[in-house]
Amino acid sequence: MDVHTKEQRRYNMQKIAGKNTKPEEIVRKFLYHKGLRYKKNDINLPGKPDLYISKYNVAIFVNGCFWHVHNCDLFVMPKSNQEFWQKKLEANVARDEININKLNEMGIRVIVVWECGLKKNNREETLNDLYHMIIDNL
Ligand SMILES: [Zn+2]
Repeated sequence: MDVHTKEQRRYNMQKIAGKNTKPEEIVRKFLYHKGLRYKKNDINLPGKPDLYISKYNVAIFVNGCFWHVHNCDLFVMPKSNQEFWQKKLEANVARDEININKLNEMGIRVIVVWECGLKKNNREETLNDLYHMIIDNL
């Protein structure tokens, strides 16, 4: 008998899909073509940022709007297992905060790119903004 709910299954799938989800790839490819070189998921850095650019000492997280609870249309609280999801997502948000603080304390700038900003209509603007945040030290 399959005791997993649909949401849990999706969660497991996502875990398996792991490192190379599409939004991260979009950001990596863009920055690579802009000539920036980065480290992927550096285990020595808090939260294993999706990218770390040593030249600018900046860490970039590409966050899924559901998993990191973005205040946007892509976030919808699941209807079943609400207690499980509430806890799970709150823990994600708390962990993000801790990791960002640790990175800042190490003198590393942190930029968060949201999944919704990488949808077709917003992508160009989001990526250009990101590029300037990195190189202009904003
Ligand atoms: Zn979003």
